Amino acid sequence: MALMTGAQYIESLRKLNTRVYMFGEKIDNWVDHPIIRPSINCVAMTYALAQDPQYQDLMTATSNLTGEKINRFCHIHQSTEDLINKVKMQRLLGQKTASCFQRCVGMDAFNAVYSTTYEIDEKYGTGYHERFKKFLIYVQNNDLTVDGAMTDPKGDRSKAPHQQADPDLFVRIKEVRPDGIVVRGAKVHQTGSINSHWHIVMPTIAMGPDDKDYAVCFACPSDAEGLYMIYGRQSCDTRKLEEEVGMDVGNPKFGGQEALVVFDDVFIPNEYVFMQGEYDFAGMLVERFAGFHRQSYGGCKVGVGDVVIGAAALAAEYNGVAKASMVKDKLIEMNHLNETLYSCGIACSCQGKETKCGSYIIDMLLANVCKQNVTRFPYEIVRLAEDIAGGLMVTMPSNRDFHSDTVVGRNGETIGEICNKFFVGGQGCTTEERMKVFRFLENICLGSAAVGYRTESMHGAGSPQAQRIMIQRQSDMEGKKSMAKKIIGIAEKTEK
Ligand code: SF4
Ligand code: FE
Repeated sequence: MALMTGAQYIESLRKLNTRVYMFGEKIDNWVDHPIIRPSINCVAMTYALAQDPQYQDLMTATSNLTGEKINRFCHIHQSTEDLINKVKMQRLLGQKTASCFQRCVGMDAFNAVYSTTYEIDEKYGTGYHERFKKFLIYVQNNDLTVDGAMTDPKGDRSKAPHQQADPDLFVRIKEVRPDGIVVRGAKVHQTGSINSHWHIVMPTIAMGPDDKDYAVCFACPSDAEGLYMIYGRQSCDTRKLEEEVGMDVGNPKFGGQEALVVFDDVFIPNEYVFMQGEYDFAGMLVERFAGFHRQSYGGCKVGVGDVVIGAAALAAEYNGVAKASMVKDKLIEMNHLNETLYSCGIACSCQGKETKCGSYIIDMLLANVCKQNVTRFPYEIVRLAEDIAGGLMVTMPSNRDFHSDTVVGRNGETIGEICNKFFVGGQGCTTEERMKVFRFLENICLGSAAVGYRTESMHGAGSPQAQRIMIQRQSDMEGKKSMAKKIIGIAEKTEK
């Protein structure tokens, strides 16, 4: 099947019977729900840009499995060039949506599961890799969006999965049947889960023999029996429900999405099971998925950062301070930080290596450094954007006030006229244009988009400490000590 258009993708969601709950109620027509739709528009952009001839090189690739042209989001990286193009594609999409476009979790899961299943088979003689390839060909041929589901609720963080008071706090195999397994548990803050046709579920931490039942990886349709999702709310989300909301939503078309995904005894046929008890490979799968997703942040967050910087520059212009040297310097700093993140995304891709099965993986140390920087720099970028914009981004009246005909002034001026009079800025913009920029910045810094830019920069793809552990493991301290000894003239002590 050919690549889907954005419109075909949206239509394809209508055919699913995905169970979605929000504000305590079932949402039947979730595709057109005003809170959910912006996140669907975002994923649709990953389809729309793949149709655009000017973005073909970034948005599409040739499948190593079928030789067909596919969307890059369904691709297994075959070279460092593929890894670099992935990051560039994500920057492009960040620029086009100023939001989380969600489809990367599936792409990163494909690449992690593809190489890990090969290595599980190598050790145990299982047939997971071929099974996974079959599933992936189906995904590629149908141009599907898949949620890569990793994060378990985890309960008491000091305890392993099997030690939890409630055994469901990590996804587990509840029952083994001749034709498949029954799984129970949940995955939390799942990016784009409702907008995905399928899910790939992976373990969330390295595991020991006692956690065997939790060492499970499988694929299942998003509308499988026993599976349901509870929408994660975002700051200011109910603004999207308001009539005449206008500019108050900040980003009128796009948004991110996270949900709690519950597996309430879901049957998974054997053909979709890619790990079943091989606990010694749970850590590899987690590290690879996390590594790929930490690389991803060197693309998507940079693209969103580009838009934030652009909006801050517009705010400066509309405030009439664009020529002030300290404003220019703040914009330079924002660009410096943003391009540093991009450099990390590109660097870990350039230094990528072939895995045992022939696919390519990022340099783990640099990918973790990339994400560690992402836990910091967007905060500074946002701080500088708020600094440049000024306090109005959090104190201005509503869209309705700006358009209100209610008379308030001594000479019959309306609320709208008064707002437009007193919130006027520099030359070259209308008051409304100036307000739109502030609303966008409010949205990205504090509103519903903050989940996809600011807080997600901290916790998405693993919280900062997770990267620090990987940096410690990968940074070859013994080798560095030897280098220092050699230079200084300290003899290596031989073990007796
Ligand atoms: Fe993609 Fe970034 Fe969203 Fe992750 S946070 S799914 S990398 S856009
Ligand atoms: Fe994310």
